[in-house]
Amino acid sequence: MKRLLVIGDGQLGLMLAEAASRIGLILDRVSPEQSLLFHGTGRHGIALPHDWSAADYEIITAEREHLPANALMARLAEHPGFGVRSAITTLADRRSQKALLDRLGVATSEWCVVESQEDIERHSRVHGGTVVVKAAQGGYDGRGQWRLDATRAGAAPAELYGRMIAERSVRFVRELSLVGARKADGSCVFYPLVENRHREGMLSFTLAPAGGARDYQPRAEQMLRCIMDELDYVGVMAVELFEEDGTLLVNELAPRVHNSGHWSQDGATTDQFELHLRALCGLPMPAPGSVGHTVMINLVGCEFDPAWLSLPTAKLHWYGKEFRGGRKLGHINLQAPTRQALLTQLASMAPLLDRDHAVVVEEASARLRLAQAESEPAQA
Ligand code: ATP
Ligand code: MG
Repeated sequence: MKRLLVIGDGQLGLMLAEAASRIGLILDRVSPEQSLLFHGTGRHGIALPHDWSAADYEIITAEREHLPANALMARLAEHPGFGVRSAITTLADRRSQKALLDRLGVATSEWCVVESQEDIERHSRVHGGTVVVKAAQGGYDGRGQWRLDATRAGAAPAELYGRMIAERSVRFVRELSLVGARKADGSCVFYPLVENRHREGMLSFTLAPAGGARDYQPRAEQMLRCIMDELDYVGVMAVELFEEDGTLLVNELAPRVHNSGHWSQDGATTDQFELHLRALCGLPMPAPGSVGHTVMINLVGCEFDPAWLSLPTAKLHWYGKEFRGGRKLGHINLQAPTRQALLTQLASMAPLLDRDHAVVVEEASARLRLAQAESEPAQA
């Protein structure tokens, strides 16, 4: 039985542990900051025993790309089973990530390193108006980002000069993402493209599969395959995309399981967590298909409500994290054979949610109705 270690003690690691236990793998998690070990799906970490050795694990993976520089990480970095470490290092910094995309000729928004206020002003002048300034490292859920125009260029934090990038603000029609997996032998599989909606930089819902995106699928797969090949990557990787003027631009890459793949837990033949483990362990990895239509709704900054469980088709994934406003605390997947049936489910779900989440359900329903209308042949 293979033994795996996940770096990180968040919900992604927990869901990897759940998937591992289903398919007979042993998976523990370690908090790299606190040196706490979590066995399997256990919620309580124990201090790393003195005789603990990472050599007891064959494979090391990570649930996040931002890893601390400390003694424990230095030990883990030398582990021969932590092969994806260099890919994580490249992608954890927006400067090297964007440079990789440019080098591979994978379309992404025009960008520059921000060394000074003038760089933001110039980027704004050249690319027209607002630019999105992002910290090179450490940002997530829209944190560490500033939307600025030339007149407000001075509002970016000067202490990050040299460690920020500026991107053209993309006027996208919608955001899509693709999750795929690659094995050590180079074989790859992909989920269908999904549509994502963000609120204040944080994912609020995913529709799987995305409506009318079939024509984009080969191009998106080609982009992600090319990146994974270049990095000799093994495991699941996600690419966030902007659809702009009939083309795809890469927003960013995540060398791990991804929030926009959570729908697969209840709407695909194999979920992204199991797929990641299969890829890492060299297990059979048939292409994962979507089963009908799925909506994933993130539960952000709300208390657990047992009422959610009164809808028989709602699959709740609650992370058991401490409540904090604006924090992702769980998600709900709704899955149905048709978009129409999914709309009915969403209508039943809305009254069980607070105002903010009911609005998200309304937005998701509107997108689904649009996808449904577009997929129906025009009436003569
Ligand atoms: P994640 O939670 O995915 O890790 P993040 O904090 O790393 O997010 P991004 O994905 O770069 O940040 O940006 C968050 C959101 O902000 C995007 O999903 C998109 O809605 C918007 N955004 C980011 N960059 C741009 C851009 N260049 N043009 C327009 N919108 C953008
Ligand atoms: Mg993102």
